[in-house]
Amino acid sequence: MDDLLRLDDRLTADQRLIRDTVKSFVSDRVLPHVGDWFEEATFPARELAPVLGSLGVLGMHLEGYGCAGTDAVSYGVACRELEAGDSGLRSFVSVQGSLAMFPIWRYGSDEQKQEWLPRMAAGEAIGCFGLTEPDHGSDPANMRTYAKKDGSDWILNGAKMWITNGSIADVAVVWAQTDEGIRGFVVPTSTPGFSAPEIHKKLSLRASVTSSLYFDDLRLPASAALPGVTGLKGPLSCLSEARYGIVWGVVGAARACLEAAVDYAKTRVQFDKPIGAFQLTQEKLAWMYVGAAQAQLTALHLGELKDAGHLEPRQISFGKLANVRAALDIARQARSILGGNGITLEYPVIRHMNNLESVLTYEGTQEIHTLVLGEALTGLAAYR
Ligand code: FAD
Repeated sequence: MDDLLRLDDRLTADQRLIRDTVKSFVSDRVLPHVGDWFEEATFPARELAPVLGSLGVLGMHLEGYGCAGTDAVSYGVACRELEAGDSGLRSFVSVQGSLAMFPIWRYGSDEQKQEWLPRMAAGEAIGCFGLTEPDHGSDPANMRTYAKKDGSDWILNGAKMWITNGSIADVAVVWAQTDEGIRGFVVPTSTPGFSAPEIHKKLSLRASVTSSLYFDDLRLPASAALPGVTGLKGPLSCLSEARYGIVWGVVGAARACLEAAVDYAKTRVQFDKPIGAFQLTQEKLAWMYVGAAQAQLTALHLGELKDAGHLEPRQISFGKLANVRAALDIARQARSILGGNGITLEYPVIRHMNNLESVLTYEGTQEIHTLVLGEALTGLAAYR
């Protein structure tokens, strides 16, 4: 499909190279199989992680420790191309780089960084991020998971829910209440007292592992705590990194749906004409393109703000709210254009559509990001 507005002309040569490299990985290694992974509810993480590591996309925007150290727009472009494959694939990369590696990189000790970051960048070790709990999702400040001091050790008790990569992870970054406030802990998943059963029966993000985490008198040395941060700003800063990736990623899912719909509209004949020749179909396609292009412009603008060091959380809320909504609308329109074929995994559309329902909810629901914007506009907080 034509890049009508030539938006990718604004990318540098290096950014275009990253785009093309990730795109060809997705087209060779992901697209031929992802419908089956979705149907079978599997994600071949151990097989793909080293390949993603060699592509340089794990912890891509971090400096040192084997990470690629790219600019934010490059990281965004990679997320876009990964999510054009599947939101589960982009989620894997987001969680690894932005939610598990970023807190170690930003707040960890030298020892924690040396131990985990090079292996995670190479895809030899997989990470997860445990913030959400069964009874505390949108309000993580009320979390119940507790780490109590026992001499110099910590004893961790509690439960997390909806944790991407949980049961395949080698290391979990777990956020817990302590007597000093919320702290982060780097928890090797082989530690006695750790368990991570997988959550089944999902109809969204099926090509992604989602788990609960349980901590049962799990003993950690003093060195397991992240020394650089106390309070909710720790996990929230990680979420800002990952949400930025979502702002770009969903543009890829939207593009994949639009491309599928355009192809289908040009070849599916009804009433002796391709359905793309009907004005009602063209109206749908035109608005889908408008939505996708506006989402791309938003992503690019936020990327440029991030590279200039000016990106604020409320601007990321704008991007997550606007772009996920746009992508979901585009996926639903595409599904209608494909008619009956729109409900099968022979085409990518319903897979993206169902995935985007999770993307709408995780990393701050659309309601929470709406309230962030509401507060930004009025100065009045309406969360409680
Ligand atoms: P709730 O917070 O219970 O919200 C339910 C509804 O109430 C929502 O519509 C919400 O917007 C609304 N609501 C809540 N509060 C308000 C309010 N003040 N005003 C108006 N409406 C409100 N978490 C992690 O920590 N790590 C992960 O790796 C991770 N991966 C995930 C993967 C998947 C597939 C999914 C589905 C979730 C994942 N999550 C993860 C959890 C995710 O971030 C939470 O589901 C999300 O924050 C919402 O929490 P909740 O599901 O408890 O919903």
